[in-house]
Amino acid sequence: MDEKLVDVYDEVLQRNPGETEFHQAVREVLDSLGPVVAKHPQYTDAAVIRRLCEPERQIIFRVPWVDDAGQVQLNRGFRVEFNSALGPYKGGLRFHPSVNLGIVKFLGYEQIFKNSLTGLPIGGAKGGSDFDPKGRSEGEVMRFCQAFMTELYRHIGEYTDVPAGDIGVGGREIGYLFGQYKRITNRYESGVLTGKGLAWGGSRVRTEATGFGTVFFVDEILKTRKESLDGKQVVVSGSGNVAMYAIAKVQQLGGTVVACSDSGGYIVDESGIDLATVQEIKEERRARISTYVESHPRARYVEGHSVWQVPCDIALPCATQNELDGADARALVGNGCSIVAEGANMPCTPEAVRVFSEAGVVFAPGKAANAGGVATSALEMQQNASRDSWTFEHTEERLGEIMRRIHDRCLTTADEYGSPGNYVAGANIAGFTQVADAMLALGVI
Ligand code: NDP
Repeated sequence: MDEKLVDVYDEVLQRNPGETEFHQAVREVLDSLGPVVAKHPQYTDAAVIRRLCEPERQIIFRVPWVDDAGQVQLNRGFRVEFNSALGPYKGGLRFHPSVNLGIVKFLGYEQIFKNSLTGLPIGGAKGGSDFDPKGRSEGEVMRFCQAFMTELYRHIGEYTDVPAGDIGVGGREIGYLFGQYKRITNRYESGVLTGKGLAWGGSRVRTEATGFGTVFFVDEILKTRKESLDGKQVVVSGSGNVAMYAIAKVQQLGGTVVACSDSGGYIVDESGIDLATVQEIKEERRARISTYVESHPRARYVEGHSVWQVPCDIALPCATQNELDGADARALVGNGCSIVAEGANMPCTPEAVRVFSEAGVVFAPGKAANAGGVATSALEMQQNASRDSWTFEHTEERLGEIMRRIHDRCLTTADEYGSPGNYVAGANIAGFTQVADAMLALGVI
């Protein structure tokens, strides 16, 4: 790390003790910014980088609700409004038992640079709760969402902060959250949440956008080598929203997805994962991926997290943070994998990223590769503001253009700052400079 940034990092460690994921995310960005501060001293002089590492606002609240047995349950809600230099705060809500302030801060911090990279007018935020929707009835999920929004509503708005989904928050949860916001405020304010259903203000392609966008990004990488997805073997981790639509797009573009997973284990189907079955298991039955083999006897199920042992040309981690470590990276390299693109946020550990870099594996970081989700959320806001609704084809075309632009911007910026072909440096620097310039222009606020 550049010596001008060491103090900034030390301050982050001191002010945010124990928040290891947040430290990791900050370090990854600061490690890229050496050549930037050398060229542009104004960013350190005006404490722009220090300010960027401190959220503008952090909200923590109690979420009490009543379960089906009549017992009072208690969860904790979070919203970290990290940076609004480029537009209203924007970022998803995560419902998962592992959610804590450090995780929300790492996600909010990453979101600043990702949103900047889209070129659309959105700031960075993230939120969520340690509520676990698994095993909860429909009624319990609805009551929890209503209780969560009963506090959150006062902090959000279409010009203030616009949440969306993330792990554990899909169309069903966004529906309950939007319903409660509408009830409390007596306003049909479509632009306050994204990821809405098509019948009530949602955008076509939003559901598919993160997975599709990640694969569009991979396609751009392949084009730089005059290759395509046709005939490529792909492994995807997870089987949630991002994973499912990554699988769909790989298949549309001629690749074969041979494995996917959930937190229990993974399935391998050499003839290609049957997406309709995965969707039925995950979206309709809300069951475990292990049940895939019941209808596909030629496939096998392996318990545990080592989906990265399955040989592939391209790996798409689409589940959660730090799910792919150094040992997994070495297994991928050993099996000839040559591209890794993060559909999830920070799924690869710093050691894994080092292994890829040393082995010459092309590595696309999440803040660039999975930006298609939030970009399409911004397109949803655009449609809501103009009370319009675009076709699937038009929206997917816009998404494709945005992903191409992000890809090219990463490469051009990496070149400009002396790290040709380095998507991590390109994404961090391009994302950073736009926010930093806006912060300079807006004064010390
Ligand atoms: P979902 O809840 O739809 O799916 C998450 C998937 O990851 C599930 O298969 C889940 O398995 C698995 N998973 C979750 N936690 C763990 C864990 N601790 N260990 C192993 N597997 C786990 O979430 P999304 O698909 O929406 O999100 C996936 C990732 O993509 C996250 O990192 C998210 O931040 C990121 N992302 C999502 C965007 C979106 O638009 N949804 C946008 C940009 C990034 P199980 O069901 O067993 O828990």
